Order: sequence, then C-alpha cells, then structure tokens
Amino acid sequence: MTTLPKLDYNYNELEPHIDANTMEIHHSKHHQAYITKFDAAVDGTPLANQSLSTILSDKSSIPSEIKNAVINNGGGHINHSLFWTVIGPNAGGSPTGKLADEINSSFGSFDSFKSTFETTAATQFGSGWAWLCVNSSGSLVVTSTANQDNPISDGLLPILGLDVWEHAYYLNYQNRRPDYISAFWNIVAWNIVSDYFEKAKQNDTSYLV
Ligand code: MN
Repeated sequence: MTTLPKLDYNYNELEPHIDANTMEIHHSKHHQAYITKFDAAVDGTPLANQSLSTILSDKSSIPSEIKNAVINNGGGHINHSLFWTVIGPNAGGSPTGKLADEINSSFGSFDSFKSTFETTAATQFGSGWAWLCVNSSGSLVVTSTANQDNPISDGLLPILGLDVWEHAYYLNYQNRRPDYISAFWNIVAWNIVSDYFEKAKQNDTSYLV
C-alpha cells in the first residue's frame, strides 16, 4: 500500500500564493485518489514492489492491461510527491551555488530561465506539468508533459515541477493560469531543488518515489 506523503508545512502556509482550500483538496483528495487507483492497478503484480521512478523510466515494461492506470495514477503520485517538496513557506528568491551557475550557463540568466519556464507552463495545452529537468549529459532543460506523464519516461530527471492542472489553481485564480505561474516563484524551495540537482546529476533517483 502506498502512503500519502505528509507535507512539511500546513495547508494555509503557502497563502496568498496557493490558498489553504486548494492545498487541502489537492493533497488529501486528488493526490490520495491517484494513490488509491495506482495501488488498485498494481495490486498482486511485481510492480507493487517497484519504485515509480523505475516503473516509469521504462513504460514498455508495464503490462498492457494496467499500462494506462499506472502511467496516469502512478504518474500522479510521483509528480505530486515531488511538487509538495519543492514548494514551501519562507521560500522563493533565487537559487545559489552550482544550481545557479548551471541555470546561468543553460539559460543565460535566472530571469531568462524563469521566462522560458513560465511560457512552457502557460502554453501547456490542457492538463499537465512544467518541469526543470537534468538530462543525460547533466545539463538543465525546461520541458512540459501532458496529463500525469513524468519526464523520467523521456530520459529526463525532474528537479522542479509545476502542476498546471486546473485543480491546482482554479479555486483562487480561475482562468488566470499566468497569475498562478507568477506566484509560484514566491514558494519555490531552491535549497531543495539544489539538493535534487546534485542527486540527478549523479543519476541518483532516491529523491523520487
Ligand atoms: Mn495536481
């Protein structure tokens, strides 16, 4: 049985950027629903004992009869589990150290990276995610995925993700996805993202579920 990860902060601590009601429904209802459906799909199969980073890194290994359920609901679990940890109260600002250097090297500047990420998040059509990932060469790339797909299926290790499903922002922002995306920068926990960057460069996926 998969456990819903506890948050390191209270539902109301991300206000005004993400409201408490959205956080509570998103975590306790949406994320829990992905977990419940994932567990039902893999119950009694070898996948029940594998990490999602392993399962989703080779989608062809997923039995066809549970493939969609695993990709959608297992994806929902790995994606949200990452998301909750890269946001938090008393966060925002800019990255430092090696991550800052690599962002400058890959995108020209932090502002340029932010602009690329915002455009990617805003133009993801329908439900999906925007990501900052480490590729197989150890470089940073911004990408998006539809639905609950995870970049690990494309050979990329995500170190920062933004949920742009309407359930992530609609109660507070309604149709104003760009405002939600702008507010995201105030709650990014760059110290955590830096830690994930170091791990991802070593191809260490232990920070993912
Ligand atoms: Mn979500």
